[in-house]
Amino acid sequence: MNCALVTGASRGIGRAVARRLSDEGWAVAINYHVRRDAAESLLSELRAKGRRAMIVQADVADGSAVKEMFARVEQELGPVETLVNNAGIAGQMLFQDITDAQWNRYFAVNLGGARRCIQAALPHMIHVKRGCIVNISSIWGLRGASCEAAYACTKAGLIALTRSLALELAPSGIRVNCVAPGVINTDMVQVLGEETLSCLAQQTPLGRLGTAEDVAAAVAFYAREEASFVTGQVLCADGGFIV
Ligand code: NAP
Repeated sequence: MNCALVTGASRGIGRAVARRLSDEGWAVAINYHVRRDAAESLLSELRAKGRRAMIVQADVADGSAVKEMFARVEQELGPVETLVNNAGIAGQMLFQDITDAQWNRYFAVNLGGARRCIQAALPHMIHVKRGCIVNISSIWGLRGASCEAAYACTKAGLIALTRSLALELAPSGIRVNCVAPGVINTDMVQVLGEETLSCLAQQTPLGRLGTAEDVAAAVAFYAREEASFVTGQVLCADGGFIV
């Protein structure tokens, strides 16, 4: 059973991705930052079904924590063959109010986290000439978002990283793809409030907010053998929001 590592898998989209990859036969490493309780509940759920899984704490913005995470995962589940860079933070503020510390933190987690995890995963993937990397971007990374400039910039960066690495790593047999979710009903968007969320659902051509499972299905497609000719792609799971 091959190993998939999902960052930020304690809650929301990452949690659904980890569950889905487990359903599809992967041994899954569930990364979390602070919510050990949430990661443990997913671990119990998967183990109750007889699945191979583990939880692993790391702040993806911390280079040595990421290296340690990969070492622990390799020891317990084997080398990472599918990496899902999902861990992310979001927040709304006027562009004029962003401090250096806030700007740097968005980049360190959302884009730097993916960079660190990919660099940690590559030695094995290059060695076996096989690997699947999926980055979770956002429709705001394609379109831009008022009051979320820092977040949107990190998500645009993930798309550029996806396309660049798809080209650079193709000769090594490694595929790099991206999912750009629309508005997905997770903890991350609850700060917007019920009224705004209902407006966003109405603005979505398919008439509803997305679910974490909607995004997990797109990630699962990339991870399958049948997607072996697919690389460098950005799949919008957004109900038609930015069509
Ligand atoms: P969420 O419900 O807020 O969950 C965030 C997850 O990321 C949690 O598991 C959290 O761990 C983890 N995390 C946060 N900072 C981390 C760090 N420094 N190191 C490691 N893990 C960290 O968010 P979500 O809605 O599922 O979003 C997941 C991804 O999808 C993000 O990249 C987000 O930008 C992207 N996305 C979301 C939407 C949306 O509408 N929800 C739309 C487009 C894109 P703890 O539980 O330990 O805090």
